[in-house]
Amino acid sequence: MSNVPVAVVTGSNKGIGFAIVQALCKQFPGDVYLTARDPSRGQEAVAKLQKEGLHPLFHQLDIDDLQSIRALRDFLKEKYGGLNVLVNNAGIAFKVHDTTPFAVQAEVTLKTNFFATRNICTELLPLMKPYGKVVNVSSMVSRLALGRCSQELQQKFRSDTITEDELVELMTKFVEDTKKNVHEKEGWPNTAYGVSKIGVTVLSRIQARMLNEKRKGDHILLNACCPGWVRTDMAGPQATKSPDEGAETPVYLALLPSDVDSPHGQFVSDKTVQPW
Ligand code: NAP
Repeated sequence: MSNVPVAVVTGSNKGIGFAIVQALCKQFPGDVYLTARDPSRGQEAVAKLQKEGLHPLFHQLDIDDLQSIRALRDFLKEKYGGLNVLVNNAGIAFKVHDTTPFAVQAEVTLKTNFFATRNICTELLPLMKPYGKVVNVSSMVSRLALGRCSQELQQKFRSDTITEDELVELMTKFVEDTKKNVHEKEGWPNTAYGVSKIGVTVLSRIQARMLNEKRKGDHILLNACCPGWVRTDMAGPQATKSPDEGAETPVYLALLPSDVDSPHGQFVSDKTVQPW
């Protein structure tokens, strides 16, 4: 078994994830895994970084596929005996003018951004080594969407006692409410992406609390963040930040020094803790 520290970035064949791998290859003292659901897109991205003299490793990972998540889990367990850095970056967004029915957009978006990210955490958080770092890439849109929820929902999402099961129930309810077209009446904002990212931010707050309760002595730091508005296939060419700039906050959180105990359980943007 290798004693080399290991970092994994989900959805890193392009966009912000690719830039995070690139930065980690330069700064992280260990093996860095570029992962992609499509092996050929992943290998192409690895080759691109190799041309720059960097040495990312590759592992297939489709976060929507539990088998694929478990194959990565078993590989990490066997080869490294755990994991030091996990960046949950993979995500999707429908374009504004997409005509797919809203209920379908809600189901598909929540499936990847919330439920699949949660599945990764369920399988990989137990592998996190002491002083490990977990970064869940959320979005500022989660805060905007939170502000557009009913007071009752806002209170639940801001609660310091909400459980993961309760959060899953709420995210499931959103999808069901969109199918009945009652989501706005039920206090939800009209944004599937926004609600999915509320899920990611609140999940991060819950997971950090669980780490405090169950693994306090391990000094693992887990945060949600917003990369900013970044020029990628998702956000388009008008966005204000380059992918390298978008990677800055996630990389900062992934490389927090071992002698600090914060931020933890926070929502971070531009390397600054934001109110939730
Ligand atoms: P992007 O260019 O569209 O890249 C998304 C990445 O996620 C791609 O590598 C994609 O792989 C991967 N992915 C999607 N579904 C996946 C799955 N089921 N399994 C594994 N990988 C999957 O988007 P981006 O702008 O870099 O976004 C990265 C993250 O930042 C997302 O979580 C996004 O919500 C968040 N974010 C972005 C912005 C922004 O302005 N760009 C702002 C706030 C937050 P494929 O190539 O196979 O599709």
